[in-house]
Amino acid sequence: MAIGELFSFREWDDTSWSDVAECRGLSAIFFPPAAERPQARERREAQAREVCSECPVLLDCRDFARRNREYGFWGGESEEERHAAGYRLIAPIGVRARNIS
Ligand code: SF4
Repeated sequence: MAIGELFSFREWDDTSWSDVAECRGLSAIFFPPAAERPQARERREAQAREVCSECPVLLDCRDFARRNREYGFWGGESEEERHAAGYRLIAPIGVRARNIS
């Protein structure tokens, strides 16, 4: 599933920027599998960060994720990085809940 497919219920927000997202078809590296280990998460997020660095809509994506308190890796940012920027997760769980305060 591409990020654009996740937007079907968000008609109030302009998501046309996702039409040219560099991550289309790469959702597996942007969202964690169940019980992901910290080392695997680091590797997966490094791959996602590399894709984002080439993306023409990085700032639109980052703003969207911040506004909507998204989970996963968006706009070159992990959940922890969004939190550090002042955009707190609504309900952090597991490792994320322990790592951010
Ligand atoms: S900035 Fe990253 S997550 Fe956002 S659309 Fe581009 S590649 Fe996908």
